[in-house]
Amino acid sequence: MITLRYVHAAAALCLLLAFSIFSQQEQKFDFYTRGEYRPNVPRPQSILRYDVGDFHTTYAQMEQVINAIASAAPDRVKIFDIGETNEHRMQHLVAISSPENMARLDEIRTNIGRLADPRKTSPAEAQQIIQNNPSIAWMAYTIHGNESASFEAMMQVMYQLAASNEPETLNILKNTVVLLLTGENPDGHERFVTFYNSIAVGDPNRNAYEHREPWAIFGRYSHFRFDLNRDTLAQSQKETQNMQAAFMDWHPQLSIDHHGQPSQMFFPPDSLPINPNLPQPAFDKWNSRYGRANAAAFDANHWDYYVRDIYDAFYPGYWDMYPSLNGAIGMTYETDGGGFKGIRWTRDDGTIVTLRSAIAKHYVAGLTALSITAQNKNERLKDYYDFHANAMRDAANTWKIKRVVISPAKDPVKAAELVELLRRSNIEVKIASEGFNSKVAHSYMEKNAPAAARSFPAGSYVIDLDQPQAVLIKAILEQDTPQDKAFVDDNMARFRRNQMRGSGQTKEDFGFYDITAWSLPLAFGLDAWWTEDVSPVNGAMATAESVAALKRGNYGGRASVAYIIPYDSDSTGPAMIRLLLQGYRIAVATKPLNAAGKNWPRGTFVIRISRNPDTLHDAVAKLANDLGIRVIAANSGFPDEGDTGIGGESVNSLRMPKIAMVADDAVDQTSYGSIWWTLDRYGIPFTALSVSAIRGGALKDFNVLILPDGSAGRYMALFGAGGVSTLKSFASEGGTIITARGASVFAALKDVNLTSSRLVGSDADDEKGKADDDKAAASAAAKPSPSPSATPIEQPDDLTEGVAPSLPPIASPSADNNKVPVALPGSIMRATVDRTTYLTYGLEQNELPVLLASGYFFRYSKEGNNAIVFDAKPRRPLTISGFTWEGNTEKLLAGTAYVIDEPTGNGHVILFAEEPFFRGLFRSTTRPFMNSILFNGTF
Ligand SMILES: [Zn+2]
Repeated sequence: MITLRYVHAAAALCLLLAFSIFSQQEQKFDFYTRGEYRPNVPRPQSILRYDVGDFHTTYAQMEQVINAIASAAPDRVKIFDIGETNEHRMQHLVAISSPENMARLDEIRTNIGRLADPRKTSPAEAQQIIQNNPSIAWMAYTIHGNESASFEAMMQVMYQLAASNEPETLNILKNTVVLLLTGENPDGHERFVTFYNSIAVGDPNRNAYEHREPWAIFGRYSHFRFDLNRDTLAQSQKETQNMQAAFMDWHPQLSIDHHGQPSQMFFPPDSLPINPNLPQPAFDKWNSRYGRANAAAFDANHWDYYVRDIYDAFYPGYWDMYPSLNGAIGMTYETDGGGFKGIRWTRDDGTIVTLRSAIAKHYVAGLTALSITAQNKNERLKDYYDFHANAMRDAANTWKIKRVVISPAKDPVKAAELVELLRRSNIEVKIASEGFNSKVAHSYMEKNAPAAARSFPAGSYVIDLDQPQAVLIKAILEQDTPQDKAFVDDNMARFRRNQMRGSGQTKEDFGFYDITAWSLPLAFGLDAWWTEDVSPVNGAMATAESVAALKRGNYGGRASVAYIIPYDSDSTGPAMIRLLLQGYRIAVATKPLNAAGKNWPRGTFVIRISRNPDTLHDAVAKLANDLGIRVIAANSGFPDEGDTGIGGESVNSLRMPKIAMVADDAVDQTSYGSIWWTLDRYGIPFTALSVSAIRGGALKDFNVLILPDGSAGRYMALFGAGGVSTLKSFASEGGTIITARGASVFAALKDVNLTSSRLVGSDADDEKGKADDDKAAASAAAKPSPSPSATPIEQPDDLTEGVAPSLPPIASPSADNNKVPVALPGSIMRATVDRTTYLTYGLEQNELPVLLASGYFFRYSKEGNNAIVFDAKPRRPLTISGFTWEGNTEKLLAGTAYVIDEPTGNGHVILFAEEPFFRGLFRSTTRPFMNSILFNGTF
């Protein structure tokens, strides 16, 4: 049964001898001391043919291991398939428990589910359930595909639980149903493992190539280059939806997300800020109990670890926060080796951390947490029931926010998508069938908005907080989530100290780990209010069918003259792009249009029957159904009033877009990914081009080029002067260049000059003021990174998790008395819409909530159009939600531009100050982005 092959072990031993003169390696951990083991259950090594940590396991090999163990131990193990990834790998959930529990698994699942709804389960019934059922433990592995120790550890934990008759292991099986999620991000893991196995020799030298994944590999992310451990808010990715559906199905009380690789092992308790919606004191009690038990186990092994420090519990999009907001104790465990550190890696003191030792730490910490859960089973289940009961009590009695109302008016499709998202988390949403009122309603468009009476029309979505999921609802929908005062004070003190430091002095880092604003109605760009009262509302609860019906568009019959398509959802622009790509001829009204007996705003689309083949009718009807657009048939060209009808001079023809996007070392993967995913979900194809292909003439086939967020300096280094002049020729000959965030910084560099805008506080910023003694810090953004590493932002030497890749690279604050913006961790700001430019077609509103997660503020373009801006003299604060730097952010942001259109010869350069589709979550600038593509060559 145990068939160890020694080939790889021998190779590793040779390497060990070669380096051992100077380096100390941790003692080899023995994974098989917790028997007796049932002899018929195969150890993973007997299938894999290498010892633990000597080689990296592919997804298909892992599947062989779990299948072999499951078929040898059917009394304890059952494998559930929970859905495919984008690359067609199956995600598995392995349930392991005692034979008695396995025989009634469905019954246990149903019973535990009843604890999640105190409306239907009395305290006495809950007590019965608690006495007679095990708790559910969710153990999830490798959400970051290149954190490989996690992947390998899962198989050792599975074997231990399936094979061992050790009393403590039997106690775990008796008192818990363990759910092993065998791979959260199989596609990313496969990229990493294929790369690593193909080139690695187990070299601990930090500069060895095996420790640097190439751009196209970077296994941290999913197929669409999403960070799946930021996606529980948007739930945009298939993998997230698979896992979330399984999570809601099982109602776990413990949830551990297994990662790597900081300098030493991390497990909770977490650092500040702690999201105030997490239920206290229970959250602290359990984190401390698990943390102390892990500490005792690690102390006994003489292993290093830390708690608190950098890992907080604030942003609700993580796979520790989402479980915690659903009543589990959700924790992130970060082991110290494997992944980019490979099989062996030299620490800063010359000692070696191995993949095997990192696997051992996850193995020990995971089993320890399972023991604590089993030993405290009843208390954990009771607290789980109380989580939901207390939430309902607080929602009814204590919380000011009682109800959230979301309007579908500005985008029925997007509003329905948000409702679908909420329903996936068992959140009950009512669709009002009649109008209703509130005496105390607050707008989402203002932080601490004053209360006002307000009436809401039929069709509004109503989410009352007094329901079992109250905590989650509040955490993801509330207008603003405050941070601990101690945390804010500490960071403001660092900010002030930094301002007193001269330019040669090292500045203090800030404590933010992620964005500080995410409220879903704001992120989606939908109108919403929260109310302090709950007047009766007539209507029905939203169901899958009723929401799907609201997402469907409307094809108003066959037209004889033209189809009129109002621009009233984010999917309208993509629908028009798809028609153009199919070869149909479309025009847009640049002035208010009168057609089909009605007035339509500028930006309304006109598809003339005379200019198109007969297949148009079916194509339009299909798009109405697929993308939810509204299609009106016009049977006469005569306008009842006004200057512009279907045949008017102000109805301009559109050009077929041919889209390319840069995929290369300078490009931020998640930015590329979020644009890729957005285009893909609307069915819009593009060609990915390297910079060298662009320099070699590849742009001749395209008229739209997208430059995602990235390092301005590295864009500069890749393009060079020759590449920059290629870009300029492309634009001046009629092409459209769209830049996002860091790419917009690149466009605004003096040497690049694709725009007449300049970055606030940069060397080239004329308006910065004369008392400028800190030019170096100010222009940091514009210079290539000094780091020699291949991907310095994404792969810092010891700390993939410690630096959120989304955080801006210009964090170094300035001693310049608030002339240079200090980077924001991520807040939602009030922008003003110029409703006279084509870029804002479809936005019939004056204000827009937008994400700002950098210190990149752009001066107004001197020669171009500033389509979306921040008011120079705002009457209300620009900050809508989240943290900003007092005395710095608002002062410097006022009078800058968020979206700029720089006409260049016959073409355009269009700058977005931020990522237009950050994490697939922020969607308020979808229309300007799609307009950049759709109207290329028209204006
Ligand atoms: Zn991770």
